[in-house]
Amino acid sequence: MIDHQRLADEFFRLASISSPSFREGTISRYLSERLRLLGAEVVDDGAGPKIGSESGNLVAYFPARGKEASPLMLSVHMDTVEPGDGVQPVLQDGVFTSAGETVLGADDKAGIAEILEAIQVLQERDIPYGPLEVVVTVCEEVGLLGAKNLDFSLIRSRRGLALDTSGVDLAIHRAPCANKIRFEVRGREAHAGIAPEMGLSAIAVAARAIDRMRLGRIDEETTANMGTIRGGQATNIVPRSVVLEGEARSHSRLKLEQQTAHMIDCFKEAARELTRDIGGRPVCAEVVTEVMSDYPLMAVPRDAGILQLVEAAGKTLGRTIEVKGAGGGSDANVFNGQGIETVILGTGMSNVHSVDEFVRVEDMVRVSELLVEIISQA
Ligand code: ZN
Ligand code: CA
Repeated sequence: MIDHQRLADEFFRLASISSPSFREGTISRYLSERLRLLGAEVVDDGAGPKIGSESGNLVAYFPARGKEASPLMLSVHMDTVEPGDGVQPVLQDGVFTSAGETVLGADDKAGIAEILEAIQVLQERDIPYGPLEVVVTVCEEVGLLGAKNLDFSLIRSRRGLALDTSGVDLAIHRAPCANKIRFEVRGREAHAGIAPEMGLSAIAVAARAIDRMRLGRIDEETTANMGTIRGGQATNIVPRSVVLEGEARSHSRLKLEQQTAHMIDCFKEAARELTRDIGGRPVCAEVVTEVMSDYPLMAVPRDAGILQLVEAAGKTLGRTIEVKGAGGGSDANVFNGQGIETVILGTGMSNVHSVDEFVRVEDMVRVSELLVEIISQA
C-alpha cells in the first residue's frame, strides 16, 4: 500500500531543507505548499515573531472524507538540533544518514514524511477518514517554544499523536512534568586577607545547601539535579554572590512540588545556619529563588481512547504496540497540558541529536502503514 519510493523521496527533500531552530522559514514555506496540495487549509499561527523564529507553527486542516469522527491531531516539529546547516542526506542500502558533519534531521522529518505518505495513501485508495489536524511546530528542540506559544484556539482536536520518538510500533503515554529553578545567594563581600570577619561567603552557603539536598534519582517517579554554578570574583575576595541553576522532574505533580520546595528549603536553611555576627549584628545571606515551570505532566491513562485506537490499528496489522513511559518532556506534554490527550509514536529515527543519526526506509514504511490504519479507524 505504501509507496516506498515516494516516501523516501519525500524524506530526502525534507532532510535536504536545513531547518535549525529559529530558522524554519524555508521548510515552513515548503510544508505549507505541500499540505495545501494535499487538500489542507493551512494556517501559520503567528507565533514566529513572539519567539524570534522565521516561522510560526503550522496548523493544517484536512476535512473529513466519507467518515464522521471527532478530529484527530497529528503533530510533528519542523526544527532540528545543530549542527543542522547544509544537511546532505545520503540513502544507502535502505538507510538514510547525513553525508557530513551534520545531523540528518530524521528527528523529526521522518515523522513529517510518514504523515504525508499516509494521507496520500488514504486519498488515492479512497479510504474514508474523519477530520485531521496536522500541527507542525517550530523550535521544539529549544525548550518546546513553538508548542508553548501555539495559538490553541486554532485546534479543535481533543486527542492526538505526536510523531517524535525513536523506535517503531511504540507508543509513549507518560512523561514527567518539570521545573527549572534558579537560586541566587547574596552574601557579603570583604577582603579575604585583611578583613575576612566582615564577609559572608555566598559560596559557603551554596555549598552547604547542595550538600544536604536530595538530588539524583529521588524515587521511581522523580529526579533532580543542580546543573550550573557561577559566582565569586577573585581568590582574595569573600564571594558576594553565586548563581545556581537546577531542575526537578516527576511523573507526579505533588512530588514535583515537594522536591522543588525541598530544594528551596535547603538554601534557606543553609543561609540561616551560616548567619554570622558582623560588627555586632547578625547577618544572614539572602536567597532569591525563581521557579519556572518547564513543561506540564503527560499522563495519558492506559485505557484512554487514543491508546486503544493505536493498539487496535496495530492489531489489524498483526502487530503488538509497545506502550511505555519516557523520562523527558516534549511537545506532547504541552498538548496534554492543554487538554488534548496526546501520545507519542515512534518514527524509526535513531541516534538522534548526533551526526550518526539515521533512519531506515523500511521503518518509515512501517510507521506510515500504522498511521493509515490509525487514521482510518479513528
Ligand atoms: Zn524531536
Ligand atoms: Ca529531538
